[in-house]
Amino acid sequence: MNTTLSGNGIRELALVTPGMPASDGDGVRMTRIIGTPELNMLDPFLLLDAFGSDSPQDYIGGFPSHPHRGFETVTYLLAGRMRHKDNAGNEGVIEPGGVQWMTAGRGIVHSEMPEQENGLLMGFQLWVNLPARAKMTKPGYQEYPPAGVPLEQREDGTQVRVVAGTTSEGTTGAVKNDWVKPTYLDVTLPAGLSFEQAVGAGDNTFLYVIEGELLVGGLQKLLAHRTLGILGRGDRVQVGSPSGARFLLVSAQPLNEPVARGGPFVMNTRDEIIQAFDDYRHNRF
Ligand code: FE
Repeated sequence: MNTTLSGNGIRELALVTPGMPASDGDGVRMTRIIGTPELNMLDPFLLLDAFGSDSPQDYIGGFPSHPHRGFETVTYLLAGRMRHKDNAGNEGVIEPGGVQWMTAGRGIVHSEMPEQENGLLMGFQLWVNLPARAKMTKPGYQEYPPAGVPLEQREDGTQVRVVAGTTSEGTTGAVKNDWVKPTYLDVTLPAGLSFEQAVGAGDNTFLYVIEGELLVGGLQKLLAHRTLGILGRGDRVQVGSPSGARFLLVSAQPLNEPVARGGPFVMNTRDEIIQAFDDYRHNRF
């Protein structure tokens, strides 16, 4: 699909996918939504995983020590606790409503382990690509507790947790980005209300419904619970929900650069991937 054209107006639903069951790390079961054969990427978003289970065997193995290079990982938790630790000396526990934004840059080795032995663990991990000029930048790490993620409380009862970017009412997220600057909102919409957000006309934009269902765009197409909707062209997102909904709205300008993937590394060329494996093997991360 051509997502580079600009346009004005309300964005309509262009593609819907529920993702597919996947397993990663040490046997963590999740739904992979972006980064599948059906939806390889949505430039600059390389991957979106949704994890959510109250069975410890689905998550207890966590994601033991592993490397990344060339992009950023964003973990946003809805339930449970996860401990992050990396070889740049960063360590922290994310709690529901908290976010961890890691810039792997030229290389980082980290682990992401559940800080719980039972109960519900639920959240998302999004991979945001870095432009060619920043792939070898210094690794970075930002972590915000739930109280550090601005909450916009609208008069009509709508709540917007602003992970990144700025809402149409002017609330700006906690995360500071030097490269790709996504908008990342977690919106709770009471029954019968509608919600609007301005987005860049050239952005790639998706919605993911966490709870309830959404009516998307002027045509009011239905986006169901636990599905991802990619939006078509326009400079405004407009959604409604007859029975109430909670959803993510994520949007960013595409990089339009070549993408070479090799497991945990995402570069621009095959040679750079080979170099990444070689650097990791020889402890140059
Ligand atoms: Fe990781």
